[in-house]
Amino acid sequence: MSKKIIELKDLNLTYNLGQSNAFQALHAVTVDIEEGDFAIILGPSGCGKSSLLNIVAGLELPESGSVLVKDKNLLKLKEKERVEYHRKEIGMIFQAYNLISTLNVLDNVSLPQIFINKGKKVRDQRSMEMLNKLGISKHAKKVPSELSGGQQQRIGIARSIINDPQIVLADEPVGNLDSVSSNNVMEILNNLNSQEGKTVVMVTHNPEHTSWGNRIIYMKDGEITKIEIKDKEGNIKKESKEKEVSVFDKFINHFKGLSKKQIQMLLEPYKAKHLVEKLTTNFQESQIATMEQKIKNRLSKKINSEELFAILDKSQEDGGVGLDFRSAKKFSQEIESLINVSTSVSKEQDSKTKAFLILKTIFEIKNYKIDQNSLNKATEFLMKKFNKELKNKEFKKLLDLSLEDGGAGFDSRIVNTVIEFIDLIQIISYGLEDD
Ligand code: ADP
Repeated sequence: MSKKIIELKDLNLTYNLGQSNAFQALHAVTVDIEEGDFAIILGPSGCGKSSLLNIVAGLELPESGSVLVKDKNLLKLKEKERVEYHRKEIGMIFQAYNLISTLNVLDNVSLPQIFINKGKKVRDQRSMEMLNKLGISKHAKKVPSELSGGQQQRIGIARSIINDPQIVLADEPVGNLDSVSSNNVMEILNNLNSQEGKTVVMVTHNPEHTSWGNRIIYMKDGEITKIEIKDKEGNIKKESKEKEVSVFDKFINHFKGLSKKQIQMLLEPYKAKHLVEKLTTNFQESQIATMEQKIKNRLSKKINSEELFAILDKSQEDGGVGLDFRSAKKFSQEIESLINVSTSVSKEQDSKTKAFLILKTIFEIKNYKIDQNSLNKATEFLMKKFNKELKNKEFKKLLDLSLEDGGAGFDSRIVNTVIEFIDLIQIISYGLEDD
């Protein structure tokens, strides 16, 4: 059996912790990587892949959890020891190559040797060996800008392995390359793994790259949703259960362990962000920023519904959001309905009434048609979800299932939206019971 080389447990990472722009990038991330793995971390942009890689690299510290690399607990190391760990054990490759434009290729590659105090002669010799290995030695005296993207990335790889680390971490290494160069670079990473025995962990948003790996780690919204382990033939031999956590549960997780004061500070901006995200589609960044700010004021009752409408309607030059009259009307009505139902829900003890109120409001806001039987069934399912008798995944399935088969018979196109709005209302109502 292979030995575990990287063991990550329950990692939580929040950027700007304790500030109003706090953002939790990783939620309870747990995963092991074994010696000799070619691990691929796959997920959309912003899901936390680089953050995770940076933790393994010793460049970022999570606020909780544990990180063992070669049995060493990174969170227990002193700053100096962590820097040394990074230099000795980790080779890093970046999408943007990160080469120094004024140094020639040879000096770029030998740079990491300076930090471990190697003399120039040894450095140059070792650097030349790396360039030979990667087939770019004839470019040793050129500066990076004289070379193609694929060649520059090979320099990046040469630099990453010059100190002979056992672990190579690659962050979107072929993100800037055409398909031919991309394939060359992937071949090189594959050789490092299969012939030199290096453990490679690569981050990508491109599902096609998973064919290179034997351990595929799927990520979404700061969480690992699935892990696949493949045999030598590339067939999946083990697969973890797909995790589906509701946005509201994630939200609760997000605040776990924070003090009441911290929560209060984070709550309204978080709610405003979610509201705007769900209600807006084609707006400019500046409009979204103003909307978030104003909705935050509305949630904290600094402004009333008429004032919010006026701001949405007012031009951007005059400090408003610049919506036309009709859109401003529609948005402010939706926001008021959501705030009203959230307030009622927060004060309602009976989970059936709660479920009914939420569903009825969503159907009104979205202008969806629903018959009484469907609404009754959905109410029953949502009540069970609130009472933790149904998991998120089961709830979703039941909404979709036909009435004849015991489901709520929702049009499958609206199921996700309904679930998103349930989460949104739960989020807005969070903490309102004390008001
Ligand atoms: P990925 O690599 O999957 O694109 P990242 O790990 O880079 O994702 O980022 C995850 C989330 O954390 C993103 O929403 C990003 O905006 C945020 N983030 C990353 N780095 C920082 C930082 N230094 N400060 C604040 N937020 C950050």
